[in-house]
Amino acid sequence: MLKVRDLTVRFGPILALDKISFDVEEGEFVSLVGLNGAGKSTALAAITGLVRPVSGSVTFDGQSLAGRSPEDIVRMGVALVPEGRHIFRSLTVEENLHVALTSRADKQRAKDDVQQVRARFPALEHLWETPAGRLSGGEQQQLAIGRALVCRPRILLLDEPSLGLAPKIVDVVFALLKELHEEGVAVLLVEQNAVRAVQVADRGHVLRRGRIVVSATGKDLSERHDLAELYLGL
Ligand code: ATP
Repeated sequence: MLKVRDLTVRFGPILALDKISFDVEEGEFVSLVGLNGAGKSTALAAITGLVRPVSGSVTFDGQSLAGRSPEDIVRMGVALVPEGRHIFRSLTVEENLHVALTSRADKQRAKDDVQQVRARFPALEHLWETPAGRLSGGEQQQLAIGRALVCRPRILLLDEPSLGLAPKIVDVVFALLKELHEEGVAVLLVEQNAVRAVQVADRGHVLRRGRIVVSATGKDLSERHDLAELYLGL
């Protein structure tokens, strides 16, 4: 469904991504793991049209994503949960979800989608009218995922959703990703928390200094005792 081929991104003299290639099939859970600065966020930004690659291609259902606006890419069914969540702190939880729907023409269906998200996140129920800036980190992360889900994505791209969260809340986030995967949503997860990320994945790729150095099933990667070495390049 999502095909990334020889994707290369430069920031001036820095080669942030050096010809990376991977696929995400319909309903598949793929994790891209690597250290800080390995190029994980850049990969998601290049897929979603936020940075322009110097070469390579990204296609979704056979259609090129090159040159499309981020809004257009969302409409095609590709939704990003960015690092740091990027929620609107002064808007309420409900308003944050509605902002994600402003470009939708089918207003009634959009309202139903908000109700579905509401039902999925009981932790947000009593916070519906609360400014998002007052939510805890875990609640904000759930809101950021909810905001992506109201767009009914076929693939959800997540950038470090566990960053800065207490272990108990990390469990909640991973359980949610597992549930979405079981419902048939494809997931492309970018994480520094490699052990957790490969455990839940069908397939994993280790990214080091802009290159994919190892690709394997999530099961095989989670059984590799040298995962940390692979990851660190030791
Ligand atoms: P992190 O977890 O810190 O986000 P990452 O694996 O996502 O790490 P990227 O943020 O993709 O890594 O960064 C890859 C490389 O590109 C790094 O060397 C980084 O310094 C550089 N880089 C990323 N964004 C920019 C930018 N806007 N301008 C210049 N260099 C950048």
